[in-house]
Amino acid sequence: MRLAIFGGRFDPPHVGHLLAASDAFERLSLDRIVLVPAATQPLKAGQAGAAADQRLEMTRLLVEGDRRFEVSRVEVDRGGLSFTVDTLMHFATQYPAAERFLLVGADVLGSFGQWREPERILELAGLVLLERQSEAPLAAPSALRDGGVRRLPTRRIDVSSTEIRERVRAGRSIRGFVPDAVAAYIERAGLYRDS
Ligand code: ATP
Repeated sequence: MRLAIFGGRFDPPHVGHLLAASDAFERLSLDRIVLVPAATQPLKAGQAGAAADQRLEMTRLLVEGDRRFEVSRVEVDRGGLSFTVDTLMHFATQYPAAERFLLVGADVLGSFGQWREPERILELAGLVLLERQSEAPLAAPSALRDGGVRRLPTRRIDVSSTEIRERVRAGRSIRGFVPDAVAAYIERAGLYRDS
């Protein structure tokens, strides 16, 4: 079984996440992608937004009914700062025989050296950089130079959670930025109106 872990804040999850994951699914011939909403991301601590359970529920709505994807509450349940190495150890125990991959956006490459136990991360999973096409290739930091990092071109979807939160705050429509079920959840829960 070929399994990929895709973590993030997902505040909110959007079509950029979905299409990048979908491209990775096909190009890596994966059997399953597990989306893992973070409790608190160490390098993004202090940012306001939706609560962990709300981000978890919206991520479920993003991939609802799609058997390629599953959503894990492992980081939300663990609480505190979410370190990727702990999450990978969890999945290594749960799926010892699986070939494991860690999907990360190319924008996180610059901070990889600051992550907890980067070498251990590379032992536990193959690191796959989702590189949005037309992005200039970035130079890998030293922690990655020797490790087998795989660069995966994904289509460019110019949308971010930050833009979606700003649109909601400004009273603009987010139709098409997120699946309708996620938009309805944001509306119902009154999220991002004054974040
Ligand atoms: P924010 O705007 O709040 O920083 P984000 O939209 O970048 O959020 P995250 O939850 O931080 O979303 O992203 C999780 C992962 O998804 C990261 O690895 C990020 O690089 C990747 N990602 C985010 N947006 C896109 C997109 N439009 N296309 C491809 N990958 C994306």
